[in-house]
Amino acid sequence: MTAQNPAGHASDGLVSVEDHLAQILEAVSPLSPLDLTLSDAHGCVLAEDVGAAFPLPPFDNSAMDGYAVRADDIASAGESQPVTLPVVGDIAAGSGGPYTVQPGLCVRIMTGAPIPAGADAVVPVEWTDGGVAQVSIRRPATPGAHIRRAGEDASAGTTVLTEGTHLGATQVGLLAAVGRDRVQARPRPRVVVLSTGSELVDPGTALSPGKIPDANSSLLTAAAQEAGGIAFRVGIVPDDPRLLLDTLEDQLIRADAVVTSGGVSVGAYDVVKEAIGRLGPVTFARVAMQPGMPQSFGQIGPDKTPFFGLPGNPVSAYVSFEVFVRPAIRRMLGVEPINRPTVRAKLTAAVTSPPGKRTFARAQLKVEHGAYSVRPVGGGGSHLIASLAQANALIVVPEKMTALEAGATVTVMLLERRHA
Ligand code: AMP
Ligand code: MG
Repeated sequence: MTAQNPAGHASDGLVSVEDHLAQILEAVSPLSPLDLTLSDAHGCVLAEDVGAAFPLPPFDNSAMDGYAVRADDIASAGESQPVTLPVVGDIAAGSGGPYTVQPGLCVRIMTGAPIPAGADAVVPVEWTDGGVAQVSIRRPATPGAHIRRAGEDASAGTTVLTEGTHLGATQVGLLAAVGRDRVQARPRPRVVVLSTGSELVDPGTALSPGKIPDANSSLLTAAAQEAGGIAFRVGIVPDDPRLLLDTLEDQLIRADAVVTSGGVSVGAYDVVKEAIGRLGPVTFARVAMQPGMPQSFGQIGPDKTPFFGLPGNPVSAYVSFEVFVRPAIRRMLGVEPINRPTVRAKLTAAVTSPPGKRTFARAQLKVEHGAYSVRPVGGGGSHLIASLAQANALIVVPEKMTALEAGATVTVMLLERRHA
């Protein structure tokens, strides 16, 4: 590993990936909870303990379509000597009818309908002749059979979800089941995304000489959504400091974080580098990684909004997002883990890495015969977005390694979407 001084700068002027990330994570914290609707709370972290205001299920109800009976009345029922009972009513799911089942009688009942007073068992329709006026029952039932008891899932007052729970589909379903339409939860961070570059045009626009479509703002907006944020794609800002500052000042009002691409290296017209310092303290670092060496991070505007100035090459922008922005978004969401999962996998082709830098090589990870194998895809060029789109993982080559041979076991970061 590269020698480092206490300020985190490697001796060759590079900052380590860890130190740059640590600086970012120190500056971001979980957002304050808000009262959110269930659909807004999906994917967020619960900021209260949620109790059941009423028992779950709320009342004794039938687990089957069948007949509510008194178990004693059908104790002698069998295939060869069915018991026949008059059917005195019909209870559908949703009905609250005040039925009582007297001895020797029964009521037809549907799944989810309340058990009438007097009845202590449900006979599934399959054990009967399905009669409407009277029913012939071929099997006895034990008391309580096919009855779902009030409170058997959760009794009134019990905590069903605790503060800190990440709300996925099933947790949102439970909140609804206990009658909640809103909860206290940490909101998704709002991420404003824009691309800098006078060479950029909106996708769908005809290209004129020297122009290319803006890939990064779409890529980073999608990545920020997948990380759990609410992303706003502002689009293109030309390499004009005044326009960049005006745009950022307008956008800060709705931003919990700002992500830009391009203009952070040492070229002429590197607009972010030129202008951003006027909005707050922003550092420009050379990070010991490949791709993604030029990085900037700071806090801008009146609310000290975290600002990420990522390099412009699409692969660099994306890898930088994965390594620095995604963990920050997840920290703001309040979810753990903030990092992508990693696995160890067998390399199927050699990979090289510049000395002193951590390489994140695009790769395809597969499971073969129960073991992970990983294959690099695309070349080293940071402009190669076509091969980026083939990758489902990044091979992480440590700083001290310059080459990994086929057959070596390597650490691989998974890029699957489901971890939002
Ligand atoms: P920069 O970091 O601004 O010097 O840009 C580095 C390279 O990335 C240049 O070749 C740019 O044309 C390219 N680039 C910058 N921004 C984008 C973008 N939004 N979409 C696609 N390519 C870009
Ligand atoms: Mg540029």
